[in-house]
Amino acid sequence: MLKFVSRERETPDKRGADLRRRDFDEIYARFARDRAKTQAARCSQCGVPFCQDHCPLGNNIPDWLKLVAEGRLQDAYEVSSATNNMPEICGRICPQDRLCEGSCVIEQSGHGTVTIGSVEQYITETAWDNGWIKPICPDIELPQSIGVIGAGPAGLASAEQLRRDGFQVTIYDRYDRVGGLLIYGIPNFKLEKHIVTRRMEYLQESGVQFVRGFDVGRDASFAELRDKHDAILIATGVYKARAMNCPGVGSNGVVAALDYLTASNRKGLGDTVSKFETGELNASGKSVIVVGGGDTAMDCVRTAVRQRAKSVRCLYRRDRENMPGSAREVANAEEEGVIFEWLAAPKSVLGDAKRAIGIRAIKMKLGDADPSGRRVPLELVNAEIKFEADMVVTALGFEPEDLVSLFAAPELKLTRYGTLRVNPATLETSLPGVYAAGDIVRGASLVVWAIRDGRDAAAAISARLGGRDQLVAAE
Ligand SMILES: Cc1cc2nc3c(=O)[nH]c(=O)nc-3n(C[C@H](O)[C@H](O)[C@H](O)COP(=O)(O)OP(=O)(O)OC[C@H]3O[C@@H](n4cnc5c(N)ncnc54)[C@H](O)[C@@H]3O)c2cc1C
Ligand code: SF4
Repeated sequence: MLKFVSRERETPDKRGADLRRRDFDEIYARFARDRAKTQAARCSQCGVPFCQDHCPLGNNIPDWLKLVAEGRLQDAYEVSSATNNMPEICGRICPQDRLCEGSCVIEQSGHGTVTIGSVEQYITETAWDNGWIKPICPDIELPQSIGVIGAGPAGLASAEQLRRDGFQVTIYDRYDRVGGLLIYGIPNFKLEKHIVTRRMEYLQESGVQFVRGFDVGRDASFAELRDKHDAILIATGVYKARAMNCPGVGSNGVVAALDYLTASNRKGLGDTVSKFETGELNASGKSVIVVGGGDTAMDCVRTAVRQRAKSVRCLYRRDRENMPGSAREVANAEEEGVIFEWLAAPKSVLGDAKRAIGIRAIKMKLGDADPSGRRVPLELVNAEIKFEADMVVTALGFEPEDLVSLFAAPELKLTRYGTLRVNPATLETSLPGVYAAGDIVRGASLVVWAIRDGRDAAAAISARLGGRDQLVAAE
């Protein structure tokens, strides 16, 4: 260990921009065994590991890095999977620069952070390759059943934990496929879909029941589900797109980010998508402008590049330093040919109802910080600027759906943001026996936080239903 002085930081090989623009395959290769060992051995084994503190799952990072460096990969897998239900997914798509790697101490001494995410991915991929990941076989089968609404990372993580405790688990999802935004939001070039399907198959083999194409509120009432199960977990995510507020947004050619990304992901999965075939949700040959500066916007610009758009611009009202998206993804987008128009906000969509032909924008400057610490964007005077565009993709964030109406559950208490109000210690909602996890509690967030919530909610449900007590009584 402590090889950071003599060994440079290395990331897994990244395909060249010219090559990766041509397909939707992941852009990073996996570490080879020797490189994973060498990189893991750079860890300084801090007594107080800040990387672990800044991982939402509290992953035991120094321990599994040491085990990899020693070549004890199966042990490394046991340690890594004890705190994370999807280490190979987090290793790929966590914004590590803002989480674990962002607080790596050797980075602060100028040596470049340990490549924690890539090693984490390597460990679990090796575990899959070697058959170390076996379906769950609980020590006891309990009679109680849990209904989970939503098969995104929060729902899947909770289902796995509950199944381990021996509960009967059914997951309901309105989509035809399992994975939530892992399947229909995040593009293939960040997370190939077979990685998600493999997790679903593992849970299925572990006894978790999936009911797909089942929209709670439409195909069954929430009350019916509560009658059927001993506890409910709501993990429905946030899906209402925040609208762009300017004249012309109703024109043909202005599309919402998630509609656009879902169409692209469905095409990649082999579905027929009529709005893609008609061109409405296909950037091929078009001048595309994506409005927004988060990870969703980055996924849209990079998707448009791969669909062979004529040009792709990203319009964002703050500057690079104040962008919410991951710095790594911005750099990847730039390499792939995306043009960033910093400090520019849309004022209107040009064209008519039949067809958008561009955007009229205004240049901005940054004022003082607001109470959240972010600098406020202010319009400059006489600083209009026009951009040509056949397609405008709006990626301005998401809000929760009105679950109280959808579930006909007036007792369900909401926060002022429309997310579900929960007891922070247990994630129980205002309805006894009904828990919530993931984006529907936090607002649009991250996969790793959804997993954390799913695990916490599962622990609270298990405690409520006496999972452990029943196991002890049976022994
Ligand atoms: C384009 C995009 C890119 C992203 N990139 C990243 C990234 O790189 N890294 C990262 O960490 N995070 C990323 N995120 C955020 C991340 O995907 C979410 O934070 C995470 O998926 C939330 O998990 P969840 O389980 O709470 O909800 P979701 O993943 O949204 O899953 C919710 C599920 O509930 C189902 N559902 C909703 N309502 C009902 C109902 N009434 N009945 C039945 N089922 C229902 C939905 O169909 C869905 O399958 C991205 C998000 C987007 C939109
Ligand atoms: S789960 Fe995410 S934040 Fe935690 S160690 Fe893995 S990559 Fe880092």
